[in-house]
Amino acid sequence: MTLPSFAELGVSEPIRAALTAQGYTASTPIQARAIPILLAGKDLLGIAQTGSGKTAAFAVPILQRLSEHREPAGARSTHALILAPTRELAIQIADDCRTYGKNVGLRIAVIYGGVGQNPQVQAMARGVDILIATPGRLLDLIEQGHVRLDRARTFVLDEADRMMDMGFIRDVRRIVAKLPRDRQSLLFSATMPTDIARLAGEMLRSPERVDLAPSGVAVERIEQRVIHVAAADKRRLLADLLRDPGMTRVIVFTRTKHGANRVAEHLDRAKVAADAIHGNKSQSARQRALDGFRAGHVRVLVATDIASRGIDVDDISHVVNFDIPNVPEDYVHRIGRTARAGSGGAAIALCDPSERPFLKAIEKLTRKTLVVATHELPAAGPADRAPDEPRRHERRDGGRDGARHGRGRNQRSSPAPRRERDRDSYRSHQPR
Ligand code: AMP
Repeated sequence: MTLPSFAELGVSEPIRAALTAQGYTASTPIQARAIPILLAGKDLLGIAQTGSGKTAAFAVPILQRLSEHREPAGARSTHALILAPTRELAIQIADDCRTYGKNVGLRIAVIYGGVGQNPQVQAMARGVDILIATPGRLLDLIEQGHVRLDRARTFVLDEADRMMDMGFIRDVRRIVAKLPRDRQSLLFSATMPTDIARLAGEMLRSPERVDLAPSGVAVERIEQRVIHVAAADKRRLLADLLRDPGMTRVIVFTRTKHGANRVAEHLDRAKVAADAIHGNKSQSARQRALDGFRAGHVRVLVATDIASRGIDVDDISHVVNFDIPNVPEDYVHRIGRTARAGSGGAAIALCDPSERPFLKAIEKLTRKTLVVATHELPAAGPADRAPDEPRRHERRDGGRDGARHGRGRNQRSSPAPRRERDRDSYRSHQPR
């Protein structure tokens, strides 16, 4: 499951140094897939959203190829054009390109509306290597003769579905018509509605397809909340949250198989119909749990990341992150289980103080700050008096144990002593 390093992906030393300076120790899944394709000069259709690391996935190969074949673009021209739907995104991409390209000395300009055009005209006068632009202002400057695209042999259309939502598709087509025919083209979109698929068909030549959207869902549609809670109170909080009849079909994610069992047992005692699936259960026991969940007899399924792969159940109303995943991409995959097929969905994260760095890493990756919700905990009832089960030996999945001891002990007056939280996470990445 380890993702390749940038050296393994063929990224050149000066760019690697810039990525390392950003604290990027390994590639993200979209980078691992896209960078070799793009370095080979092929076209790409990427189904991925903001937060996946897609900017570096396209910016790094563009910077590298341009730095290896240096030639001036010529007045008012650019070698590469990146189109983005909003000015914020255009600025962000330009900043990222400058950061990743700080050791290769390429010329980068950004063009967007809502500000005076003169600095942008000046920036283009001598030509640039990479131009990042929003469609409307770019067309204005092209029409006025300040920008030409006939040398742009690399073209990126970012967030194509948002472009379409914002009514820019005609502008995009007009811009594409001004590009040279012989070029490398990339299209990124979080979803692939018919219009975008058609545009991709027109724009791209035998593209490689990289699909990383969790179930084709725009994570933006998912209402995300975090509740800060002591580790020892999580199960009680969960049982109380599940009193909400609006939580009709819920997946609860835990990091460990052992944790999944304990949560399911606690919910059983609290009279919530729940079952756990994880790698230690037999195939038939997992199938039974899944069938019960699908049929609606079991409202809550408690799962680990590995076990949850391949669960294909629609109409999941809520995803609860009982443990905050220490690999931020796993969070995106987990919450992608809800809000399928265009419906809405909700994700609730239960975060204890030791998990705050993981939460930060998730917020950095998704560029979204989770809404903090509060929930009054009821007084501990009989269901909370967990029998102190004997320690069972868990088989560790990955061999690389991320165990952290001393956490999750009674942080408040809890009726029964609880065992240390043992982790048998299948990956133990550090938060970024
Ligand atoms: P993006 O999807 O391009 O908007 O990137 C989302 C966030 O992930 C940004 O904050 C990037 O700085 C960060 N990021 C991108 N690639 C990596 C990586 N390989 N390792 C760590 N963080 C990354």
